[in-house]
Amino acid sequence: MLNNILTQEECQQMTALIKQSETIVITCHQNPDGDALGASLGWAEYLRVVFGKEAQIFIPDQYPDYLQWMPNTQKIVRFDKFQQGCEWTLKNCDLIFCLDFNTASRVDQMQQALCASPAKKVLIDHHPNPDVDAVLTVSRPKASSTCELIFRLVWQMGGFEQLEKNFAIPVYCGMMTDTGGFTYNSNDPDIFFIIGELLTKHINKDKIYRNVFHNFSEDRIRLMGYVMYQSLVVDSERHASFFTLTRDILKKFNFVKGDAEGLVNMPLQIKGHKLSISLREDTEKDNTIWVSLRSVDQFPCNEMAAQFFNGGGHLNASGGRLFCSMDEAINITKSAILAFEKQLK
Ligand code: 5GP
Ligand code: MN
Repeated sequence: MLNNILTQEECQQMTALIKQSETIVITCHQNPDGDALGASLGWAEYLRVVFGKEAQIFIPDQYPDYLQWMPNTQKIVRFDKFQQGCEWTLKNCDLIFCLDFNTASRVDQMQQALCASPAKKVLIDHHPNPDVDAVLTVSRPKASSTCELIFRLVWQMGGFEQLEKNFAIPVYCGMMTDTGGFTYNSNDPDIFFIIGELLTKHINKDKIYRNVFHNFSEDRIRLMGYVMYQSLVVDSERHASFFTLTRDILKKFNFVKGDAEGLVNMPLQIKGHKLSISLREDTEKDNTIWVSLRSVDQFPCNEMAAQFFNGGGHLNASGGRLFCSMDEAINITKSAILAFEKQLK
């Protein structure tokens, strides 16, 4: 069994908010990942099946190809493609669910429309330091994923028995992707209780794993080989490394969105390694470098991301952005590793 995630009052408030609302929008962070998309799709399915509410899912920009197979992705609306319509709906809707982000800047170009909307907002998220003007905030930084929170909410609020695969698949997928296939941030026994329940909906978890993790194009696997061979810089003394993905390299391997996903985890397979950093040039905007950080044990990626890379995130997985050339980004990265040397050695 699971402990309640909401107080009795919060539970009533959540139910009332849903019931009272005519038009409901679900949003998640830019560059949506399996958890952001899974939580949005799972929650939309719950609202539809259990409350008879057709929520609209607005995402800031494209989601990666490797999530295309999830049920109901055709219902998702991209803000960057349908900006006017999304803006109108955000302005006129009753209720907005903010999933898998802690602060409005994480929805990037949708931020203004989201903040300006008079609709009531409910935040459901597992990143630390929630900072969204919401009538109800469900923030649980210890949770593996927002999808886990979605499951816990449904479990407490009731209606799980009415739900089927189209709920269980995206929710399982988000829990799986945010824990690297249950290899990190996943020691809470509740996670495995939840998985057991999701499996009663006859999902094929092995296939979900393959859909996500064994979904490479030939170009992607060659990019991985190239990067690990040619561009990885290892600081063995400090158990850290970084690699660059320049525009030229991305072009050489016909980069499509999502191809860089997971690369940053690979150097952590080096024995004793504690920190891995990826520096990826934006394919369109000059002087924009996307930074991803991954660590093991207690090394605080989020502190490093906040101090050096204009970002944040979780202890072991964070991201950020630099607005400079790749050479400068490399220098900043080297300084960051030096600054955190005590925690790396
Ligand atoms: P990724 O490397 O996959 O882009 O991001 C890893 C984790 O860091 C994700 O959980 C993501 O939500 C978080 N993250 C990425 N960029 C930022 C950022 O700019 N700010 C904050 N607060 N979190 C971020
Ligand atoms: Mn997440």
